[in-house]
Amino acid sequence: MRKGSGQAISLIGLEEAELRALLPEGEPAYRARQLYEALYRRRVSSFSEITELPSALRERLEAEYSIGLPERAARYESRDGTRRYLLRLADGKTVEAVFMPEEGRDTLCISTQVGCPVDCKFCLTALMGLERNLTAGEIAGQVLHLAADNGLWAREKRINIVMMGQGEPLLNLPAVLKAVRLLCDPRGMGISPRRITVSTSGIIPRMAEFARAEPRPRLAISLNASTEEQRRALMPITRKYHLADLIEACRAYPLRPWERLTFEYVLLKGVNDSDADARRVVRLLAPLRCKVNLIALNPGPGIPFETPPPERVAAFQAIVRRSIPCFVRRPRGLDIYAACGQLKRMETGLVELRPGVPG
Ligand code: SAH
Ligand code: SF4
Repeated sequence: MRKGSGQAISLIGLEEAELRALLPEGEPAYRARQLYEALYRRRVSSFSEITELPSALRERLEAEYSIGLPERAARYESRDGTRRYLLRLADGKTVEAVFMPEEGRDTLCISTQVGCPVDCKFCLTALMGLERNLTAGEIAGQVLHLAADNGLWAREKRINIVMMGQGEPLLNLPAVLKAVRLLCDPRGMGISPRRITVSTSGIIPRMAEFARAEPRPRLAISLNASTEEQRRALMPITRKYHLADLIEACRAYPLRPWERLTFEYVLLKGVNDSDADARRVVRLLAPLRCKVNLIALNPGPGIPFETPPPERVAAFQAIVRRSIPCFVRRPRGLDIYAACGQLKRMETGLVELRPGVPG
C-alpha cells in the first residue's frame, strides 16, 4: 500500500531479500544490504539518516514506505530501574514491553500478541482475550525501540530477550520465528539465540516445529500446577493439551548439548504451593534436563488468588532444589505493573494503574 492510501508498508520486519524486491529496478544489489544494515544494525528512525543511499532513492522510499517502528505511547519507570513501555502499533493498537537493567546484562521482555487467547486464571493479560497476532516487524520492533531508547548494543553488553509479555508465542509461531531470525542476524542486531527465551503455556503440536527452527531460541514452559486437575483449573488449555502429554513432549524435545528446558511455576497461596505440590513437581520434572523458576503471584485486580508468604516460597524451593536447579524470580517493576502477568493495556480502563513516572 502506498502512503496516502492508508498505512504505508513498514520496512521493519522485512528480510534483506524482501527489501531487495521492493527497491526500484536497476538499483544495485548492495543497496538492499545498505538499507538492511541501516534499519537493524544502526537502528535509524528516519530515511533521512540513511545518507549512504542516493537522495533520489531515499526520497522515493520516504514517499512509499515507513520505517515502521512502534511509537511510544507511554513509559513508566520503577524504583528498581525497570521501565515499562506502552508502544503504539500502526493500526493504533498498543502492546507492552519491559526493560530490566541488571549488572552485566539487560533483559527485554516483549509481547507476541495483542492480548492472549489462552485464559489462564492468574494472568491479567487473559482478561483482554486475543485482539490479534503481532507481525514479525512488530515483535522485532519492540526490541529495536527499547534498545534505542536505552542505548543498548548487543556487542557491548549482554542483551537477554524473553517473550513473556502479552500473548502466547507458539500460537503466533511464524511471526515469532521470523522476528528471531531478524534479531539474531549478525549483520543486523546480532543477538545470540541462546539469549532469547520463548515461553509457552504448552501448545504441544507447535513444540516440534519450534525445535526445527534455525536459529532456535531457548524454550520455557509455564507449568504452574502439579496435577492434571489442578492445571485444568488454572490453565484451561490443559483440557486440550493434557499435562501428561506436555511432559511427554518435553521428554521428546531435542535439547542441544548446552541446553536445558526452563519450567516456570507461579505460586498461588493455598492452591499450588504445598510441600506435596513441590514433591509432585519433582516427580514430574526429575527425568528431564531442566531448571525451575518459581514466581510468587503478582496480584492484580480481577485475579482471584493471593501471593504466598516468602517462607512458603522458600520451603517450596528447598524441596525442588534437592533434585532440580530451582530459582525464585525476583519480581521487577511491581510498582508500575510491569511484572509477569501484569502486562495489560491500561487504556481499557480495566486495570487501574498505581502511579508510575510517565516518561
Ligand atoms: N503466554 C506465555 C508467555 C507469556 S506469560 C506463557 O504463558 O508462558 C509469561 C509468564 O508469566 C508465564 O510463565 C506465566 O505463568 C507468568 N504469569 C502469568 N500471570 C502471572 C502472575 N499474575 N504472576 C506471576 N506470573 C504470572
Ligand atoms: Fe496467555 Fe501466558 Fe497469560 Fe496464560 S499466562 S493467559 S498463556 S499470557
